[in-house]
Amino acid sequence: MGLDITWAVDWVRRSADQMAENRVELIRLDREIGDGDHGENMDRGFQAVGAKLDDLPAGSTPGDVLKLVATTLISTVGGAAGPLYGTAYLKASGAVGGATSLDGAAVAGLLAAARDGIVSRGKAELGDKTMVDAWTPAVEAAAAAASAGADAAEVFAAAATAAEAGAVATEPLVARKGRASYLGERSAGHRDPGAESSALLLRAGADAAAD
Ligand code: ADP
Ligand code: MG
Ligand code: MG
Repeated sequence: MGLDITWAVDWVRRSADQMAENRVELIRLDREIGDGDHGENMDRGFQAVGAKLDDLPAGSTPGDVLKLVATTLISTVGGAAGPLYGTAYLKASGAVGGATSLDGAAVAGLLAAARDGIVSRGKAELGDKTMVDAWTPAVEAAAAAASAGADAAEVFAAAATAAEAGAVATEPLVARKGRASYLGERSAGHRDPGAESSALLLRAGADAAAD
């Protein structure tokens, strides 16, 4: 079954719950290799999106929800992550266009557009210890699942699982982008907070799709 407006709204609500529940953990991760505000930034941003969901006009599409997330995150999150996630959701919105229901291929396309947006904005490569290290394996897993004929929920689940593994795999890496790169070798041994928040957001989307 395709993913519709109900799914998109549920993804945002579950994302807001995830950011609230993991606020302290994301702050802890960002204290290790950054300035300690990532949990605060993400929680603030997603609570702000959540508060706007009730104002969505009738007939809104998943793309409209993704665009609302983008504009709200850009104006409320700040730091490095705000513009990066804002671009991700904006490109994802563009990729799905006005579709009312997303199949597996559309989900794979949405995720690829989001990742490409992050890369074009932040110029990070795979292995630089950023959120790209969660998104790129997610995009690859989604593409593989979609071409094997998986449905939208299965594609999202494959992406979330790959993102979680990608976030864990940032631990030994030395950061080459963002604030953590100022630490050089000392950034190794800590999970990247943006990769972790990305994995949480993708899991929220997969859980919304599974229900
Ligand atoms: P700030 O570093 O400005 O305090 P946040 O703490 O909210 O911003 O976000 C930090 C996260 O942003 C990092 O953990 C990393 O995943 C991500 N990040 C930083 N710079 C880049 C970049 N150039 N490309 C991709 N992701 C990046
Ligand atoms: Mg920070
Ligand atoms: Mg900051």
